[in-house]
Amino acid sequence: MDFNRTKNLSIHQKSDLIYITFPSFDQTNLVNHCFSTKLGGVSKGIYESLNLGFGRGDDDENVKRNYKILCSALGINSEDLVFSNQVHGINIKVISKEKGEYINSKNNSEGIDGLITNVPKLPLVTLYADCVPLFFLDPVKKVAGLAHAGWRGTVNKIGLEMVEIFRNNFHSNPEDLLIGIGPSIGKCCFEVDEPVAREFETVFSNADNIIYPKDNNKYIIDLWEANKKILVDSGISPDHITVTDLCTQCNKDIFFSHRGHNGKRGSLAAIIELK
Ligand SMILES: [Zn+2]
Repeated sequence: MDFNRTKNLSIHQKSDLIYITFPSFDQTNLVNHCFSTKLGGVSKGIYESLNLGFGRGDDDENVKRNYKILCSALGINSEDLVFSNQVHGINIKVISKEKGEYINSKNNSEGIDGLITNVPKLPLVTLYADCVPLFFLDPVKKVAGLAHAGWRGTVNKIGLEMVEIFRNNFHSNPEDLLIGIGPSIGKCCFEVDEPVAREFETVFSNADNIIYPKDNNKYIIDLWEANKKILVDSGISPDHITVTDLCTQCNKDIFFSHRGHNGKRGSLAAIIELK
């Protein structure tokens, strides 16, 4: 594959496995983290090959093996992973000691679209296939978080919600935070109908660089710019935000894309743990 297709993210290869990191996070040397690709796993068919989503029809044993392959490359113990229960909401769970607890719909009816912790060696996981992964790190207070921002999470400002938790629960100064906006559907591909565009207009008035009307009564939404604006308005320094240049639909040869694969797909994961 072409390693030059991104200008601002790091692509790592270990045998068949390929994953992505943010250079600004790597430089702190405080975290193990990645955004996965679909390359390097054992799953077959529409899940080929590094499917990290349980409950999508893939064999659970394959998904567990995929996590082992990825986590071992990252230096993370896959037994310790803490999962979200994503419902396109803005509920964020502070993880303190649920080491190894699999939070999912089987044992938790609560929707959880964001995870945050200050406990070392407690790897957090959120799942994607076009929605926007938001990575957070306070290198001063040593706190890490992940948030799942689809269009609903974006318009309901899960990014702001996360910054508030950094501030209120961990006494973070937002100016210290590093942000990574990870691979997801870009403005090249994210076309929506009018009702969705109207919701964005309500939240982002005068945001010419977020909502683009098209000729066919559809609209293009720039989810990356929308999330960046929410975070800057929350007090994050613009030069602490890395915005992906990889669209999952345009790059569906290396990513699972819900739109690009017509819903027949596995899941990508964002993972972060404090060392
Ligand atoms: Zn695209």
